[in-house]
Amino acid sequence: MRRQPLQCPFCDNYLANPVDIRIKSLEITGGICTCRAVYVLDRRGHNLGEICLDALTFLCKGDIDKALTLMPEDYEEETLDYDTHTNTISRREDKRGRTGKLIFVRLKNL
Ligand SMILES: [Zn+2]
Repeated sequence: MRRQPLQCPFCDNYLANPVDIRIKSLEITGGICTCRAVYVLDRRGHNLGEICLDALTFLCKGDIDKALTLMPEDYEEETLDYDTHTNTISRREDKRGRTGKLIFVRLKNL
């Protein structure tokens, strides 16, 4: 399995470890890339729907109402396996969901 440093899937920028972030009522662990993509960590790897909405809400600066109006064609989404101990990612699909996941989203029309 190939592992690589944490990088943005959209612009290949190297990224910092996810950190705890709080915006309005939203509490996530993640970060922001210079290309305006945001990423959110799902430590358990089995809650992707909820984490995806968190990521979209983060993208909308904590505005969940705006996040809920986003259509799939409005944004790009990538999910990567993430190892919190080594801060590395891999693109191996692990359907058993034992690894953490990082969800990246970026609005297309910015
Ligand atoms: Zn980026």
